[in-house]
Amino acid sequence: MITRFAPSPTGYLHLGHAFSILNGWYHVQRTSGRYLLRFEDIDQERCRPEFYEAIQEDLRWLGVEWETPIRFQSHHFLEYENLLTVLKERGLLYPCFCSRKQIEAEWCDSLQASHHAPDGSVIYPGTCKNMTVSEQQERLAAGYSHVWRLDMKAALEQINHPKTPLTWMEEGQGRQLCYPEAFGDVILARKDVLASYHLCVTYDDAFSAVDWITRGEDLRSVTSVHRVLQCLMKWPEPVYAHHILLKDETGQKFSKRHQSQTLRSLRDNGLTLKEIKAQITNYYS
Ligand code: GLU
Repeated sequence: MITRFAPSPTGYLHLGHAFSILNGWYHVQRTSGRYLLRFEDIDQERCRPEFYEAIQEDLRWLGVEWETPIRFQSHHFLEYENLLTVLKERGLLYPCFCSRKQIEAEWCDSLQASHHAPDGSVIYPGTCKNMTVSEQQERLAAGYSHVWRLDMKAALEQINHPKTPLTWMEEGQGRQLCYPEAFGDVILARKDVLASYHLCVTYDDAFSAVDWITRGEDLRSVTSVHRVLQCLMKWPEPVYAHHILLKDETGQKFSKRHQSQTLRSLRDNGLTLKEIKAQITNYYS
């Protein structure tokens, strides 16, 4: 069994992270598995050097041991670019030149009510999908700002969904039905951030042979999108173990934005590892 912790170095870890980390770590110990660490740092604008070290310090304090080398997504842009080329060659990506405002306006004009995917992102109405190749080339050559979108319909055709329904395996719950249609044409690359979360996370997990993924239930719905990419690329299928998101005493989810909730500030205030583990254990029951 191989699992991983895949933080973005954009802030200090909090109690919610500790819960997620220990969830994976206890599983590794139960199964004599392997524990990997991966920094999801494709959005270099938002990452800060001090958080890479701070995260490792917190992991060590939690008693977690991970294998080296650590994987840094920012070192692998060339691989993500190659993947995008493969998808383009298979006719599965198209450039989209719409701004967020234009997309919203398009939905308003169409008078259609629901235009949000299960993860809260705005579904793309497909405006640029019908652009001719020469128009696409012209705009790309002129340096128009753009993103690359997955043509979900074409992708689902290639993997024969829903005729052969796509599913994922959820630990303790069995097979779950995917509903990738609900996400529409998701973004796989941007002009500034050259590869998207969906692309990198699925590629990296496959590359590192991660076969047991534990992460917050806020990411449960996007598993549908991840399964599409795994099937398209014939990557192995991992088992998922989505966990609840811990909330503080006011009922709010823990956030990197609240300094007072970080593991380091709890530690500085004298909280011991035993006490933190005890707090977390309460949530398991
Ligand atoms: N990097 C993501 C996060 O910090 C986790 C990605 C994943 O586990 O799939 O929320």
